[in-house]
Amino acid sequence: MTIRYDYHLHSDFSGDCEIPSEFMIERALTLGLQGLCFTEHHDQDLPEQELVFTLDFDAYVRKMSRLKSQYADRIRICSGIEFGIMKHLPPVLQTLLEKYSFDFVIASLHFVDGKDPYYPEYFIERSERECYEEFLKTEYETLKCFPPQSYDTLGHMDFIVRYGPNQNREYSYEAYADYIDPILRLLIENGKCLEVNTGGFKYGLGEPNPCAGVLRRYRELGGELLTIGSDAHDPKHLCFDFDRVQALLLDLGFRYYAIFQQRKSEMLPLNG
Ligand SMILES: [Zn+2]
Ligand SMILES: [Zn+2]
Repeated sequence: MTIRYDYHLHSDFSGDCEIPSEFMIERALTLGLQGLCFTEHHDQDLPEQELVFTLDFDAYVRKMSRLKSQYADRIRICSGIEFGIMKHLPPVLQTLLEKYSFDFVIASLHFVDGKDPYYPEYFIERSERECYEEFLKTEYETLKCFPPQSYDTLGHMDFIVRYGPNQNREYSYEAYADYIDPILRLLIENGKCLEVNTGGFKYGLGEPNPCAGVLRRYRELGGELLTIGSDAHDPKHLCFDFDRVQALLLDLGFRYYAIFQQRKSEMLPLNG
């Protein structure tokens, strides 16, 4: 495996994960990684629900600073966040960025009109197409509200297809081009990265999120900046199918992927 950094993973600081950060780090050491970046959930202003997705920033920052020095001679540990974007939240993210110093910020759309596509109810009484279109349109309109300097990459762009009744069987770049192109153009114009999230392989889609067709189109439009992450919530999923994603990206003509430290990017070769 030549991709030696995983830039999307969670620990027990995230509402849907119970694994202590140390377990993720130990697994990363076993895999021979050079670095990993925790990207803990912060989704605020959600409707009433069981899981809490707001991050305890002070505790997180304290623990990350301890782990960074504790493991400094063995592996590079970075602390990032996966910020759940909503149209009214750019000022909140701005305030967080002024108060805390993160290495990396993933902007992810998790909720549409307060509804979570993770749950089957989301797809009830509407066509799958309608749901996918609404998701992609909302993703574009919401991301557009965020100043480019407030985030580094767009997380799992088309991950809604993991949860639809037909998953990705009727989904392709071509079928949704009108909704996908504006997102890709926005990222390219602003010099932002597109995340390649291998969770899609884990969900049995046979592709990452976004799918190969979207990645091909991104490349065609001039997009070059990628970040790569497994979205692991469990140590066993760290770097999930990274070999497979590497082969796919090389095949599509990508040569580099980006990692971040203190919000500064560094490009690493995909075939190095
Ligand atoms: Zn996410
Ligand atoms: Zn995540």
